[in-house]
Amino acid sequence: MFSDKEDFKQAFCEKLETELGKKVDIATDLDAFRALGSLLRDKLSKEWLQTNLRYEKAQEKQVYYFSMEFLMGRLLGNNLLNMQILSIVKEGLFDLGLELKSLEEKEEDPGLGNGGLGRLAACFLDSLASLGYAGHGFGMRYRYGMFDQHFIDGYQVELPDHWLSKGFVWEVKRPEEAVEVRYGGQVQAVKDEEGNLSFKHTDYEKVNAVPYDVPVVGYNNETVNTLRLWSAEATEEDTLLRAFNHQQKPSNFLAHKRSLEAISEFLYPDDSTEEGKRLRLKQEYFLVSAGVQSAVKNFERLNLPWSSFSDQVALHINDTHPALVIPELMRILMDDKQLGWEEAWEITQSSVSYTNHTTLSEALETWPVNLVRSLLPRIFMIIDEINERFCKMLWKQDPGNFDRIASLAIVADGQVKMAHLSIVGSYSVNGVAKLHTEILKKREMKIYYDTFPEKFNNKTNGITHRRWLMHANPALADLITETIGEQWVDDPARLSELLKEKEDPALLTELGKIKQQNKMNLAHYVNERAGITIDPNSIFDVHIKRLHGYKRQLLNALHIMYLYTKLKAEPAFDMVPRTFIFGAKAAPSYYFAKKVIKLINTIANVVNHDPDVKDKIKVVFLENYSVSLAEKIIPATNVSEQISTASKEASGTGNMKLMMNGAVTIGTLDGANVEIYERVGNDNIYLFGLESEEVLEYYRNGAYSSKEIYESDERVRNTLDQLVRYSPFSRGETEFQDIFDSLVHYNDEYFVLKDFVSYMKAQQLVSQDFRLQKLWNKKSLVNIAQSGHFSSDRTIQEYASDIWEIAPVHTLL
Ligand SMILES: *Cc1c(COP(=O)(O)O)cnc(C)c1O
Repeated sequence: MFSDKEDFKQAFCEKLETELGKKVDIATDLDAFRALGSLLRDKLSKEWLQTNLRYEKAQEKQVYYFSMEFLMGRLLGNNLLNMQILSIVKEGLFDLGLELKSLEEKEEDPGLGNGGLGRLAACFLDSLASLGYAGHGFGMRYRYGMFDQHFIDGYQVELPDHWLSKGFVWEVKRPEEAVEVRYGGQVQAVKDEEGNLSFKHTDYEKVNAVPYDVPVVGYNNETVNTLRLWSAEATEEDTLLRAFNHQQKPSNFLAHKRSLEAISEFLYPDDSTEEGKRLRLKQEYFLVSAGVQSAVKNFERLNLPWSSFSDQVALHINDTHPALVIPELMRILMDDKQLGWEEAWEITQSSVSYTNHTTLSEALETWPVNLVRSLLPRIFMIIDEINERFCKMLWKQDPGNFDRIASLAIVADGQVKMAHLSIVGSYSVNGVAKLHTEILKKREMKIYYDTFPEKFNNKTNGITHRRWLMHANPALADLITETIGEQWVDDPARLSELLKEKEDPALLTELGKIKQQNKMNLAHYVNERAGITIDPNSIFDVHIKRLHGYKRQLLNALHIMYLYTKLKAEPAFDMVPRTFIFGAKAAPSYYFAKKVIKLINTIANVVNHDPDVKDKIKVVFLENYSVSLAEKIIPATNVSEQISTASKEASGTGNMKLMMNGAVTIGTLDGANVEIYERVGNDNIYLFGLESEEVLEYYRNGAYSSKEIYESDERVRNTLDQLVRYSPFSRGETEFQDIFDSLVHYNDEYFVLKDFVSYMKAQQLVSQDFRLQKLWNKKSLVNIAQSGHFSSDRTIQEYASDIWEIAPVHTLL
C-alpha cells in the first residue's frame, strides 16, 4: 500500500496538487479529506479488481444481500483501520500539519438507512469482507438520505440531508453496467406455432438503473467486496424520443425526466410502519430488478447451465422490502431465458433466503393488488400464479380447510402479502434473536411454521467489533490487547479471556480510567454542541435509538420527572449524580413520538436550569442521532437503556454496541437482551418489568388496566399529573395531554405504567452499585468479555454455513 510514512506523504501531496490544484500549506481540512479519500480509493482499486478475479477464477458462489437501506457511517476511519495504514496516515498527516480526526469530521455520514435494519446490513458487509466471503450489497443511492434533525423550541424539525453535495469520494460510477427497469404498460400472451406461450410487454415506461460501486474493505485480508448502489436516470433515447414524437416543450420534457429520477430521490424516513405509497413500491422494484438483472448477468459470464444457478448465486432479502426478487427472477428466467415454470421455480426457491425483522403487525408489508397490477403487470401475473399453485398444494395437503388456505394465501383480501411471498418463494426464513424466532414460530407465523418447519431458523444479530470497538474506542481496544494479546481481533469470542482477569485491580482501574477519559471527551462535545455542562463523574445513562412507543423513551422520561420531583421535595435526598443522554429521530408523521421528543426537551429545559438539582441530574437530548454520533456516545456510556416492551424488539443491536464498550444494561427480557443476560448473568445486568409471555397473555386476555395503576400508585399518579396539571413541565398548557391520555385513558399500549415501579427499583440498584467503583468496573469488564458472541463475524459465519453454504475464499488462490 504505502511503504512508509514518507511514501504516503509524497503520494498525498501529489494527489492534492493533481486533483485539487492545491499545495498542502493552503489546503483546508475538507480539501485534505477529499484528497485522502480519493488517494485511498485509487490504492484500493488493485485489490478490488484482484478480489473479483479471484472469485471468478474459483467460480465462487456469490451472495447478494438486497437491502433498501445501508447505514454505512463514515468510511475514512474504518477503511484506514481495515487497510492497516491508520498510524502511517495519522503520523504522515501530522507531519504535514493536519489532524486525521479533523479530516474525519469533514466526511458526510451517508445516512442511507433509518436505524437498526440498515446498520445491520452495513455490519454484515464489513464482516463478509473481513472474513473473506464473496458477499456484496445491493442498495439504493438515495439523493437524500435520512433527514437532518434539528430541535427548535424543543420540537423536531426535519431538514433534507443533501449528503452528495460535496461528492462521495468512495463511489465509482459504472454506466457500462446500467440496466433497464420497466413499469406499467400491457402484457399479452402470445402463442408460437408449436403452441409455446410467451409474454409480450408493451407500452411500458423505462428507466435506467445506473450502479455506483462502493468498495467494502476487509480487515487485513486483501479482500475488497462491493456495495452496489443503484441510481435512477432517464434514458437519453427515451427522453429524446418523447421530445421528438410529441414535440414537447422543454418544460414537459424536464418534468418527465424528473419523474423518472424521483425513484432514487429520497429514503422513506419511517422505520416501523408501512407507507404503502406508489413511489415506495417503484423504489422496491427498482432495486430488485436492477439487482437481479445484474446478478444474472454475472452468472451468465461463467457459461454454466441454469441448473447450477443456485450453486453460484445466493439472493438474500433483508426484510420483505426486496421480496419482489422472487417474481423478478422468475420473470427473467421464463420470459428472457425461456425456461419453463417448474425449472424457474426450482431455481428461484433454492436461491432466495429471507430475514424477518419484526412481529409488529403495523410494519408487515402488504400492497393493494390494483397497484401492483397496474405498476408491474407481468410481476403481478407471476405472483398470482405462484399463489394459485401454492393454494392448490395446500388444498391437496388438507382438502376443504378453507381457513388455513385463506390465512396462508399470498394474495388475499385485495392485498399482496409480502411476508407470505417471501416465505413461499425462499428456502430459508430467519428471525434475528432466539426469542424473536420463537415468537415467529409459536405465534406470529405459526401456521407457516407448521407448513414449512424446515425453512425456519434463528440467526441472532451482531455488530462489527472493528467499527464499534477498535475504531470507536481505540484506547479500550489497546487495553484489551495488552491484557489478552491480539488474537481477539480475528476471533472476537476470545474476548472471554478477559474473564480470567476480572479480579485484577490494576486492570479494573485502567478500565475505569479509559471510560472516564471517554466521558470527558463526550462532555466536551456536549458542551460544544448543546451548550450544556455535564459532570464526567456522574453516571452517563444513555438511551439512543429510533423514537418509538415500544422502545419506551417515555418510561425513561417519566422516571426522570419522578426523580426531579423527589429531589425538589427532599433536598437532602442522597442521589448519585446522573446525566441522562438521549439520541433519537422520530418519523416525521409519527405524532406521538414527536410529542415524546418535545417532552424530553421540556424536561431537559426545566431540570438543567434549576439550581436546586444542578449537581444531581442533567438531561441532554443530542440532535441528529446517526452512526457518527453513536460512535461518540457509546464509548462514554455507563448505563445502556434497553427497555422495550417485552416481545416487541426483535433483537436490537444498540444493546450489543454498548455492551462491547463496557456499558451495563438496564433492560427487559426482550430481543437479544435475553441472550446478553444468558452470557453475563444476573450480577452484570439490571432486569426489570414484564416478560414477553406475560405481555402476550395480557394482549390476549385484555386483563391489563393502566387506570388501576394510575389510581392506586401515588408515585405514578403524581408523576403523570404533572403532564396535565400546572407544573414546571406543563406550565398550565395542554401540550402533553395526549401523552397522558394514551397512558391513562387508552390503556397504555406499551405497559409503561405496569413496568414503572419495577424500573424505578432497578434504577435505584444501578445507583447503589455505581458508588462501588471497583464492583462497577468488574460488571463493565464482564460485559466486554461476553460481547464477543455478538460480533457480526459470528452471525455471518452462521449465515454462511447454515443458509448460504459458502466458505471463505483464500487470497492465495
Ligand atoms: C445501532 C444503531 C441503531 C439501532 O439501535 P437499536 O438500539 O438496536 O434500536 C439505530 N441507529 C443507529 C445510528 C445505530 O448505529
